[in-house]
Amino acid sequence: MSASSFSPGSTIGILGGGQLARMLCMEAKRMGYKTLVWTGGLEAPASALCDQVIELPFDDLNALQQFNELADVATAEFENIPRATLDAVEAAVALRPSAHAIATCANRELEKNFLRSQGVPCAPFWIISNAEELAAAMAELAGPGVLKTSAFGYDGKGQRKLQGDENPQEVWQAFQAPRAILEGFITFQAELSVMIARNANGEVRCFDVVENHHRHHILDLTIAPAPFAESVRQQAQDIATKIANAFDYIGIMGVEFFLTADQTLLVNEMAPRPHNSGHHTIDACATSQFEQQLRAVCNVPLGCTRLLSPAVMLNLLGDMWPAIEQAPNWIPLLADGSAALHLYGKKRAIERRKMGHITFLGDDALARANAIKKSLLSQGKD
Ligand code: AMP
Repeated sequence: MSASSFSPGSTIGILGGGQLARMLCMEAKRMGYKTLVWTGGLEAPASALCDQVIELPFDDLNALQQFNELADVATAEFENIPRATLDAVEAAVALRPSAHAIATCANRELEKNFLRSQGVPCAPFWIISNAEELAAAMAELAGPGVLKTSAFGYDGKGQRKLQGDENPQEVWQAFQAPRAILEGFITFQAELSVMIARNANGEVRCFDVVENHHRHHILDLTIAPAPFAESVRQQAQDIATKIANAFDYIGIMGVEFFLTADQTLLVNEMAPRPHNSGHHTIDACATSQFEQQLRAVCNVPLGCTRLLSPAVMLNLLGDMWPAIEQAPNWIPLLADGSAALHLYGKKRAIERRKMGHITFLGDDALARANAIKKSLLSQGKD
């Protein structure tokens, strides 16, 4: 039996209402799809752009019933959605990616075990649920590592770097998580990522591999294409394809890697949704990651992923705002006719909040991005 396809005119139910849902809604509108956003009761930049919105928590049964009745097909814009909600949606509507894939990527322990079971290279890791296990893992690692909470960790949250000579009892007591993983610390040459889409018919397409730079553990700049050997880029796409096929994945997924000095790629983590490191695709690729998400989720042929121009994406974080409710002066930036400004409509610029991004196109994109970044940071409140 072939999987169902959904044509323009169908309603896409989206779990989560953040900027990823907002950009998906824009693409959906352009292509004639309707959108229904379930915000989970959180601030929702997508609510201004969707056709219908449910502004209730994810455990609200009326909201669930409404969502399941109105959506023709469903997807998620972030992975930390209660498993019970994912299962209840999946029982009624085609949820793409599956509850299993979303929940696996949302939990570092499940994610790492999945990678290990598939023979995908990643940092050495140990699963920790008490101080004794941490002591044993630290002894085996015998060097620096990173302790990460199993659940609810992103953008460096719930992480602690360990030198290896700390007292495990004290570390575990201070860490305050029921379960965690200890990873070996990777001295990487670069961080790379690849966006991959797979539809229900099994068609797979990857975007070009990109290089990512972080600031305060949050993505700062993405450089497309990644300036590394073709063999490295091909290997990253091959690993992403292996992961997507192993999940029988439907939708778009971001796979993040460490590249070591000896040119080995290790998977850091997967995002079962569009990813910040794919935002340049809106302005720089034949098909954006959001259009590709729609195509994959609706099981229609995937779009061409060709990069039309070198590009650099600069994230706009809250610390670039002169005051919490005062945006930078955008006029000088708009003088750069090859830079696309994207603002997410968030009212309050909290320090590390993602407020928007800019995509710079052209061979000198990195130099222009760095100049604007410097100027924005000098105006910012930090
Ligand atoms: P994560 O939330 O796991 O993506 O981690 C955020 C950032 O912390 C990564 O992008 C890396 O820069 C750094 N990091 C995470 N895990 C490791 C590791 N095992 N070794 C070295 N750096 C790491």
